[in-house]
Amino acid sequence: MDLMVNLNATLPSAKAAATGPEFVFGKARWMVLLAAAGLACLVASCDRAPEGERIETLRGQSMGTEWSMVLVEPDALTRIRAEVQLLLRNHEQRYSTWIHSSELSRLNRTPAQTAFAASPQLMRSLYRSGLMLDATQGAFDPTCAPLVRAWGFGPGAGPVAGFDAPDEARIDHLRRHSTWDNLDINSHAGTITRLHEAVEIDLSALAKGEGVDLLADWLVEQGQRSFLIEIGGDLRAGGGAPGRQSWPVGIEHPDGSGEMLAAVALRNQALATSGTYIQQLPAGGNGEVRPSHIIDPRTGYPVGHETISVSVVADTCAEADAWATALLVIGAEDGLALASSHNLPAMFVLRDQLESQRYLVLATPMFETLTDL
Ligand code: AMP
Ligand code: MG
Repeated sequence: MDLMVNLNATLPSAKAAATGPEFVFGKARWMVLLAAAGLACLVASCDRAPEGERIETLRGQSMGTEWSMVLVEPDALTRIRAEVQLLLRNHEQRYSTWIHSSELSRLNRTPAQTAFAASPQLMRSLYRSGLMLDATQGAFDPTCAPLVRAWGFGPGAGPVAGFDAPDEARIDHLRRHSTWDNLDINSHAGTITRLHEAVEIDLSALAKGEGVDLLADWLVEQGQRSFLIEIGGDLRAGGGAPGRQSWPVGIEHPDGSGEMLAAVALRNQALATSGTYIQQLPAGGNGEVRPSHIIDPRTGYPVGHETISVSVVADTCAEADAWATALLVIGAEDGLALASSHNLPAMFVLRDQLESQRYLVLATPMFETLTDL
């Protein structure tokens, strides 16, 4: 286990120590950190990088969050914007459990024992999920959907103020019946069959990453080599920033201060972050804190351990996204070893259970090789 930095001691100087990163991604926005530095103008008003390459930034909304795309020397920007919006609309129409008519919602409503003919994209996401479930011994499991809802998140979860924690019998019922084993995935026929009516699937833990990959693949097909695409803080870098071999990207501190916690150089790689802090809103007037939206399917309870955020770098954003959620469930203690055994660059932020303003950052050796900007 490598101790990277004890934040309390070094945070104030972290910004200055990491020279060069111009892009800092929180979970729902990005911001210019070093406004005076060269590349910061990419997302500000100028449209020409110091090396003379033309830079354009597109932004929009999708999947309940914001997306942005930085392009170097793009062609036909209007066409790119229109196509990106179309691709994302189709993507939501496949994966969103908030859209009644989406493919996933229709699958979740298909009567038990009835085969549902799924799109190749959905089959691929489920295949990926099955691999993740095996690799994490059940910490990653999209069939925890009913538990996510029972704990007050997702569509139909009800208002925050009216949230009531589910009782043990309900948790136990959902844990026993909405399981991966109660899904029959037939990759030859391209069908998915729910074997019990309690089973529901929620692919939110990797859908943003799949969306980023979809856009990246499309851009590459269009001949666009240098780009940075982000949806809600999960991103993928193509090529390098102007005058560079890679894209330097900052990761925000999960304490909401806007401080930069770490910076990595990405070259044709993706970065995703999961945090239990992200949707942890006050549960109403009684001062109680609402539980996390990340559920440990092995217990049926929301994740509440000291690991509050995990960032993962992988070749694809879907992998990075899925692993970030999974490692958050697992926590730093076992997660560091698991990430290392899969050669994954991963960074864990832990909050001291007794002194909540104290943080600790732990990273795999692979992650540390990327912080050399
Ligand atoms: P992310 O923001 O990528 O970490 O994904 C979080 C979302 O994934 C949650 O809002 C749930 O919809 C879903 N989810 C929660 N816990 C799990 C889990 N253990 N495995 C898979 N998906 C989960
Ligand atoms: Mg995720």
